[in-house]
Amino acid sequence: MHLWYTVTGQKCPQEVKVARVMINCPETGESVYTGMTFDWPSFENVRIGEKSVRCSACGDEHTWKRPDAFLEEDGGSA
Ligand SMILES: [Zn+2]
Repeated sequence: MHLWYTVTGQKCPQEVKVARVMINCPETGESVYTGMTFDWPSFENVRIGEKSVRCSACGDEHTWKRPDAFLEEDGGSA
């Protein structure tokens, strides 16, 4: 049984890397959190269509697709 790394309710940062899905704001160039969170393997496999996000940098709404997005590791301290 190698289930120790799957969901146990306990997040261990050494085994489950949770990352925030970010895009770059086309207006300000800042990285903006899209509100989505993935662990790294899920993001590799998931299909993401067009999404829109209310930008925290410029206040506008941006449409993004997966190629626009990148993952930023969540440090654990929200
Ligand atoms: Zn923006």
